[in-house]
Amino acid sequence: MNPTLNKLRAAGFTIGYEGEDLVITPFSKLTPPQVLFLKAHKANILAALKQEHTAAAPEDDDRHYCRQCAHLLNGRCIAQQFRPQDDLPRRCGDYQATG
Ligand code: SF4
Repeated sequence: MNPTLNKLRAAGFTIGYEGEDLVITPFSKLTPPQVLFLKAHKANILAALKQEHTAAAPEDDDRHYCRQCAHLLNGRCIAQQFRPQDDLPRRCGDYQATG
């Protein structure tokens, strides 16, 4: 796993992406140096997230990361009304594939 992603997740942030935008929650808790770092390394972070997404779900695995679900908007699950910690894939009856 990417060390930058590990650090952010260990600090309690949820990080995902929508298109070419990073989605980090709680965004308001990021320090100005962290925001600058994220902007400077956005391309690498996006590539690492997309690689995780691709590698995350083999064909016979019915678990998914919330970041793969259409119900996750701005780090919040709109189906179950909570802010998931998206560090592990889960089995979720409300999962809805994006796209
Ligand atoms: S519906 Fe389930 S898989 Fe989708 S974002 Fe909510 S908790 Fe995650």
